[in-house]
Amino acid sequence: MIKVLIDPGHAPGNTNKGPTGYYEYQGVWKISTYLKDILLSKGVQVDFTRTWEQDLTLLERGQKAAGYDLFISEHTNAYDGSTRGVEVYYDYTKPQDEEFAEKMAAKVAAVMGNQSRGAKTRVYTESGKIYNYYGVIRGAADTNCKHILLIESGFHDNIEDEAFLKVDDNLKKISEAQAEVICEFLVIEGYSMAVEEAKQIVKDKAGLEDKTMDFLVNDYRFGESLVIKLAKAMI
Ligand SMILES: [Zn+2]
Repeated sequence: MIKVLIDPGHAPGNTNKGPTGYYEYQGVWKISTYLKDILLSKGVQVDFTRTWEQDLTLLERGQKAAGYDLFISEHTNAYDGSTRGVEVYYDYTKPQDEEFAEKMAAKVAAVMGNQSRGAKTRVYTESGKIYNYYGVIRGAADTNCKHILLIESGFHDNIEDEAFLKVDDNLKKISEAQAEVICEFLVIEGYSMAVEEAKQIVKDKAGLEDKTMDFLVNDYRFGESLVIKLAKAMI
C-alpha cells in the first residue's frame, strides 16, 4: 500500500497572510485535508505530520516521514506582491524527483491560471557539507522516505493568487491537481502494486508461463511498468 505523509505547513497563530484576509495556515490546512480525502478514496494510506493545534518544529515534522513513499509539505508563497506562480522543491539528493516536482508545479499552475516556476532545490553549505535549506525537507531526507516535496501553491501576497486561494472550491482544485500527479508518479514507479503481484495477475488472466513472464519483466527495459499497467487493465 502506498503511504503518503502530508505536512500542513503552518499552525494557527502563524501570521503569513494575504492583503485581503487569506491566512496561509488556514489555506494549506484545507488543501491538505482535501488531498487526504482524495488519496484515501484511491486506497492510499494518508497521515498528517501534525494536528490542527500542534506546532512541531520543521525538523520534527520531516523526521516523521520514515516509512512513507511520499512526504509533501503544503505552503503558499510570499515575495514582493507582484510575483505569481507555483514552485515545488525536492530533496537535492534525489535528482529523480525533479520530474515529479516539475509535473506537480505545472499541473497546479494550470488550475490556478498562473505560471509554473518549476522544480527547485535549495541548499546551504556548512563545514563543507551540503544540506537542504528547508527544515522539513532536511528532516525527511534523514529518513528512508522515497520522495520528498514542498509545494508553494501560488503567492498569497499577490492579489490575483490570493483571490484564487480565498475560494474553497479552488483549493479543492489545487488538491485534485496534486493528487493526480501523485497517483500518476507513484503508479509509474510501481509502488501502488508490487511487481510480483502484477506478474501473477497477468500470468493467470492471460494464461502465460513463468518463463514468459520472466522474459517480459527482466529482458524488456520497461517490463516492470508494463506488467503493472497490464495487470491494472485486467482487474
Ligand atoms: Zn509557508
